Amino acid sequence: MIPLEEARTFVLSGCEVGPTELVPVDDALDLVTSEPIAATGPIPPFDNTAMDGFAVRAADVEHAPTTLRMVGTVAAGARPDVEVASGEAVRIMTGAPLPPGADAVVMVELTSLSDDGSTVEISTPVPVGNHVRPTGDDLQPGQVVFEPGTTLSAAHLGVCTSIGVYDVPVHARPRVGVISTGDELVDSPAPLEIGQIRDSNRHTLLALVRSMGATGVDLGVIADDEDQIRSALLDAAARCDAVVTSGGVSMGDFDYVKKVLTEIGDMRWMQVAIKPAKPLAFGTVGGTPIFGLPGNPVSSMVSFELFARPGIRKMMGHRQPVEPPIPGVARAELRRRPDGKTHFARVTAVPDTDGRYGASFSGGQGSHQLSAMANGNALAIIPDGDGVNPGEPVDLILL
Ligand code: AMP
Ligand code: MG
Repeated sequence: MIPLEEARTFVLSGCEVGPTELVPVDDALDLVTSEPIAATGPIPPFDNTAMDGFAVRAADVEHAPTTLRMVGTVAAGARPDVEVASGEAVRIMTGAPLPPGADAVVMVELTSLSDDGSTVEISTPVPVGNHVRPTGDDLQPGQVVFEPGTTLSAAHLGVCTSIGVYDVPVHARPRVGVISTGDELVDSPAPLEIGQIRDSNRHTLLALVRSMGATGVDLGVIADDEDQIRSALLDAAARCDAVVTSGGVSMGDFDYVKKVLTEIGDMRWMQVAIKPAKPLAFGTVGGTPIFGLPGNPVSSMVSFELFARPGIRKMMGHRQPVEPPIPGVARAELRRRPDGKTHFARVTAVPDTDGRYGASFSGGQGSHQLSAMANGNALAIIPDGDGVNPGEPVDLILL
């Protein structure tokens, strides 16, 4: 067995940072910037009002209540065609440019317009700059808004368009093919024959790929047949930027993924000192990384989290491929037996009053018991030994 870190270092060395390109902003969610993105002009681009109300000179309302003469209206989107002189006010709507001469806005709730609209009574004094959003208050011209390596969220995309960046420099979204292997697998609601089970891995793995912002490519179920696995892997490596398979990497007589990868790729088969997900086949075929994950449903998900996610993150341009675990605390006994491996237990992690996550088993810990993964929300990293007692610290990977 080799330590997790050694296996992961090997995997990451086989994954290259993806090419850079300009991607339309609406297609850029979850991608990672490849260049600094800077504001060309100030945001807001002009002094404007944060409130519906009246643009005034603060000095004129110092002794409010006071009455001002109405000289015009400025709507959002309009260019102000009036100037506010001493003793005057202009009706103004949220987002509209502050007219020249005005230095404050009184919100409409603190005013009363005369019946004929010729004057307005201001009920309270306001300071200079009241409800005014000054030019450049959010972003200054030339300011780097996002450094390279920024993961684009919804808000990032909004900022990009606000500064006129409609094509965003990013690392390309990788296409990740997902293959299930196994003669026992079916993909149908029909009653199962003896020996059959339904393929769950392909659906969970495709969902994991997509949830991290890569493109999932469904490459179906392949039988435990050497020739079929060879052609499926060659085809997948040619069509995709990375390939994730499940099954066929253990010690069984029909575990052909391991065998075929050795033959067609630059592959290393590893026994990693972890539970679940001890066997891992990782290699490249024509430069395309292939993650040969074990078949048990929990194992394949854990293996994805520990190896495929960091590899794909690196390809996507994330500066930190391995996200650090977060410190938590055991809420209940997290028992295990010593076996020379680090265990990744399925747990429910709930924020405690002290701000740390408190973890307890979310169900059965068998590597076939996927429901405990679904019912939990984290993996607890339990070092070799007898386990963790209630109240003791434990590191967590939130899922
Ligand atoms: P293997 O790694 O191929 O030896 O498979 C280990 C276990 O995982 C066996 O019980 C398989 O039936 C099961 N298994 C393999 N692939 C899948 C899959 N795609 N969905 C659900 N179970 C699977
Ligand atoms: Mg199998």
